[in-house]
Parts: sequence; C-alpha cells; structure tokens
Amino acid sequence: MSKGEKSTTETFTMYVGGEPTASESGETTTATNPATGESLGEVPKGTREDARRAIAAAREVQPELEAMTDFERAELCHELADAVEANHESLAEWLTKDQGKPLSEARTEVELCAKEFRNAAEDVKRAETEVIPSEDPDKHIYTIRKPHGVLGVITPWNYPLNIPAEYLAPGVAVGNAVVWVPAPTTSVVAVKLLETFAEADVSLPDGALNLVTGDGPVVGDEVVVNDGTDAIGFTGSPETGEEIASKAGTKPTLLELGGNGPVIVLDDADLDAAVGCTAFGCFSNAGQICSASERVLVHEDVREEFTERMVERAREMQLGDPTDPGTDLGPLNNEGVAEKMDRHVADARDKGADVLVGGGRADDQPTDRYYEPTVLSGVTTDMTVNWEESFGPIAPIIGFESYEEAVEIANEIDLGLTSSVFTSNLELAEYFADRIETGIVNVNDSSAYWEIHTPFGGYTGKRSGHGRIGGKYSIAELSQLKTIAIDHGNARSPLDTA
Ligand code: NAD
Repeated sequence: MSKGEKSTTETFTMYVGGEPTASESGETTTATNPATGESLGEVPKGTREDARRAIAAAREVQPELEAMTDFERAELCHELADAVEANHESLAEWLTKDQGKPLSEARTEVELCAKEFRNAAEDVKRAETEVIPSEDPDKHIYTIRKPHGVLGVITPWNYPLNIPAEYLAPGVAVGNAVVWVPAPTTSVVAVKLLETFAEADVSLPDGALNLVTGDGPVVGDEVVVNDGTDAIGFTGSPETGEEIASKAGTKPTLLELGGNGPVIVLDDADLDAAVGCTAFGCFSNAGQICSASERVLVHEDVREEFTERMVERAREMQLGDPTDPGTDLGPLNNEGVAEKMDRHVADARDKGADVLVGGGRADDQPTDRYYEPTVLSGVTTDMTVNWEESFGPIAPIIGFESYEEAVEIANEIDLGLTSSVFTSNLELAEYFADRIETGIVNVNDSSAYWEIHTPFGGYTGKRSGHGRIGGKYSIAELSQLKTIAIDHGNARSPLDTA
C-alpha cells in the first residue's frame, strides 16, 4: 500500500448491448490512481464469455447501423461529440486520476476525443466512391462503401480516450458495431466514456458500442480470434501487435504500434526551436507517447550547446501532482513502464553514458511511479535506449558527424513511426524527409506533431504497424469497397431492341 491510499466502494461496469453489466464471473480488479496510490474502485474482470456476449450484441445490432444513411450516422457522431463536450471537465478529471497525466493535458485529450467524433461525422459524409469507366458500353461500374461488420478494438493506456476514439468514431460512422477492450490500467476512464454516452440523449442503438474490461490475453484475445468479429483495430506494443496479426488470420487489421522516433538536429538548426520542440517530444505525457522524441541525434558542431539547453529545460520541468496547474509531468501510468525506464537508464550508465539530470524515480512523491525528467549524453548506438522504445521522460543524446551517419543511425533500428529534423536548409530538409524510414517526418517541429485528420502509421518493413489512421484514411481502413457492375443491355443502340 502506498502513502495516501484510501478505499472506495465504487464498482464500475462494462457495457454490453447498451446495458451496464458486471462480469459473469463476478470477479473484479482494483483500479488505482498512479499519482496517489488511492483505489478508484473495482473494475469487472471480464471473461471470454463476457467478450462473446458483447460480440453477439454487436452482431445483432450491426445491420441496423448499416441500414442508416451516412448522414444519419454522421448526426449520431455529432451527438456523441456533444456528450463528450458536455462532460468535458468530469472526463478530464477521471482521465487524470486513472492515467496520471497533468489535468491540462487531460483536458486537451478530451477535446481531441470529441473532435474525433466531429471529424468522422464530416468525413463520412464526403467519403465519395467512384464511377469507373468500363470497356463494355452496356456496363455501369461503380463502387459503394460497406462497413466491415463487427469491429474489435483493443487500445493502450497512454491516450485512453483519444486513441479509442480514433477507432470508435470512424468505425461507427461507416456502420460498424464495435467491441472495445481498453487497457487494464485505464479502464475506469473507458467506463466513464461509455457512461457518458449511455446517460446522454444519443440515438446510439443498444449494442453499437460495447465495452469489455479485463486482461488483454483473455478478453482481447477472444475479440481477435472469435469468428463474430470481422476486423480488428489495435494500438499497442509491437509484440502484442504481432501476436494479434498472427491470430487474426484473414480479418482486416489496422495495427498502430510502437515508435522510437529519431530527432535529428543539424548544424544549421534554430536551436531555440530544436530544444523547445525536443523537450516537448521527450517530456509531454511523461514521455508515454508512441511519437515521443526517444532518440536525439545532434550534429557534433552544436551538440554541446544543445545538450546544455536541454538540461536547463529538464531542470525547469515540474514533476508532481497532476491536478496541480503548475505540474508539467505526472507519474508514469504503471510499474511496467517505470521498470523499463530503470532498465534503460541502468544499461546506458553501464555502457558509459552520462546522466546529466534525472536518471531515477523521485523519492519525494506519494508513489514511486514518478520518474525524473532525464537527459543522457554520450549515448552510443549499442545501448538499449537506442534500440528499444523507452516510453518515459528521457532525452538520450547521440552525437553524429555526417548527414549519412545520421540517416544510418535513424534507420538502423526496427521501429519507424515518427521522426523530426531541424534545419534551416530546404534541400537538407528534403534529403532527410525522403530518406528517414518513418511514417511521419516533421521538419522543424516535434516528432510528436500530428493533426488528427492526417495519415498516421508505421513505415513498411518496420515493426511500427500497418495501415493508416486519421481522417479519410480511417474511413477507408474501417470499411470495404464493393464494386458493382450493372449490365444495362444494349445501351449503345437501345432503339434497335425496343
Ligand atoms: P500492450 O501491447 O501491452 O497493450 C495494448 C492493449 O493490448 C491493452 O489493452 C492490452 O490489454 C491488450 N493486450 C495485451 N495482450 C494481448 C493479447 N495477447 N491479445 C489481445 N490483446 C492484448 O501496449 P501498452 O503497453 O498498453 O501500450 C504501449 C505501446 O503502445 C507502446 O509500444 C506504444 O508505442 C504503443 N502505441 C502506439 C500508438 C500508435 O498510434 N502507433 C499510440 C499509442 C501507443
């Protein structure tokens, strides 16, 4: 038990077929606030049978969703966005309690969650399909968009409202019914989102959005392997993503996996921008971002100055109570991610890196999940921090001398999600943008810069996933095209056959 731990009797529910429901086993897991160690209440520990019930409920209602027009589903998505906005502050507070991020970041995430529903509503209305020229004068060939059917959605704990909304919103907008499995360490805020929808005046058919809480290898696995799901959307680690890909068989899968984003600071970079944006990419959400600035490659001519400024930035960051408006970093969400940080820093120290600031868990906080903003210098490519995603508040600085060397270090690892390059030379910007093997390259901004309607996803050949999420790309991934060819008879000379 940690300092400040309190007990609470609140029991949360899953949502199956529109009904709040406990697990058929009656088992629960205690949810804990990572910032305080306080119990938030009991979350149902779902079973395979619970997942099957949710899949059956989704299957039953899916034809009703599919029969609605795109405009009717768009209206539904706007209503869901209204519900999120009406509960903005309450959802942000639950997000902070469940995940640990500063309240200011939680508020932004709730806004993004609502925006996902608004954008999906607008995107689906403009998801035009094509009339395709035919070789045969009697044929009229065109495509229409159909949903996949029942969409299984499995999500991580770092953005526990916005990432699910990336699937739920376009998924429902195109006529899928959804079975959603949230991460076990952020299931409370998932329940709160479904509760928000259930309590709002929303014309969502019962069973269109189902929530099954519990262990990923149990309820998540059931959603993947069950014949009742038609497609899978997964955001999480490469290891789980690969397991899901192998088990999903021929089901369409959209996989958004890990990153280890290189940031490349060239000798002509605007250092104010490079330091500010890199600090943002390393320390926002305490570094728990797939697009975090996980490896910082700096040209030797500016490395010393850049490093000094990063250290200053890290020292200025306030680690502490995520509900305090002055806090920049809250706790890490779970012990697993904190242990990974411990391991990466220990490995870097052992192999000769200097810990210039931070480098461990803070000992003056209510729980041991608070990791100090950390800057490492003298990082070399053999260190684990170069090869693996750290997912914590860390800026490992790696020096380079030539542009070719920077490209080689950037590309030699097996992850390729996002990156950024700082330079004032347009030709160099294009040189790097063309060569870095990541799905997104940001020039003169953080590796974490993205807009929710732009295509986001892993580079082919890496382990960062496949498919693209965002705007019309999500609509395309979460639906299928059907080609229809109609033979009109003798269209060239209709009067001859009359
Ligand atoms: P994780 O893979 O451990 O878990 C993700 C989800 O999968 C959880 O809900 C978990 O319960 C479930 N799960 C676990 N084992 C399962 C199984 N065998 N079958 C089905 N479901 C299973 O990942 P995490 O630790 O929650 O999240 C961190 C990872 O997510 C990082 O690698 C991060 O980069 C990645 N991520 C990627 C993006 C992106 O958009 N590419 C965004 C956010 C996070």
